[in-house]
Amino acid sequence: MESIHLKDASGAYRFAPLRRARFRLGATRPGLLPADEGAEVAFAGRSNVGKSSVLNLLCGQKGLARVSRTPGRTQAINIFDLDPGQRLVDLPGYGYAKVPGTMRRSWGDLLEQYMRRRRSLKAVVLIMDIRHAPSPIDLEMLDFARDCGHVIHVLANKADKLSRGAAQQCLRQMRGAAGLDDVDIQLFSALSGLGLEDLHRHMALWLGEAPSAPSQKHTPPGAGADSASSGTGHEPLA
Ligand code: GDP
Repeated sequence: MESIHLKDASGAYRFAPLRRARFRLGATRPGLLPADEGAEVAFAGRSNVGKSSVLNLLCGQKGLARVSRTPGRTQAINIFDLDPGQRLVDLPGYGYAKVPGTMRRSWGDLLEQYMRRRRSLKAVVLIMDIRHAPSPIDLEMLDFARDCGHVIHVLANKADKLSRGAAQQCLRQMRGAAGLDDVDIQLFSALSGLGLEDLHRHMALWLGEAPSAPSQKHTPPGAGADSASSGTGHEPLA
């Protein structure tokens, strides 16, 4: 059996199926989405917030999310397969000023249907820029995901652009902001890798319970790396 938990060279915990992420398809209408089975986690955020960088870092594959940017796929829901029954979902970046109204509507419809109906969607990771207050469109997305009953996890990305103290202060402000007070928010940097281990732990928790995945021991986010590697063993990343 392939390993579920790995440690990288620094000994940090890694959820190994992410390493095996492969682009499957870009769905431009709900009928093209894979069967609503197993477990998936969707990533959302304004364009330029660092969503591709986060996905590439998370999966340890530099060019992974580039596929989402190829013409015709930027407005699609891009699906990446991990191990059987587990998927990563790259939602279209929002906030493009130049998208024509008709396109914006059809992509909004696709997103709306996806968020409302998708039972296999275990969590929505919403990426924001730590330096900026949440935009109205971020808050709209948050409210919508909340209304649909989804677990929401916010990455306060680009934390490397601030000093440690300033980042902590911005995090506190974000946590206290209207509309964000009840969601889980973590510091992140797609550049330095800050917060990466914590995100891997969350991914393991959300995706590890896919019915078709091999049974395994789960470790809640925040638990020690050593206990996370028990069960199926671990090995260094190549
Ligand atoms: P996307 O449009 O949301 O997919 O954003 P990209 O991943 O293409 O990133 C947009 C820009 O932000 C690029 O120049 C990235 O190098 C930069 N970027 C992304 N994440 C970070 C981060 O955590 N720190 C810093 N300093 N730059 C970042």
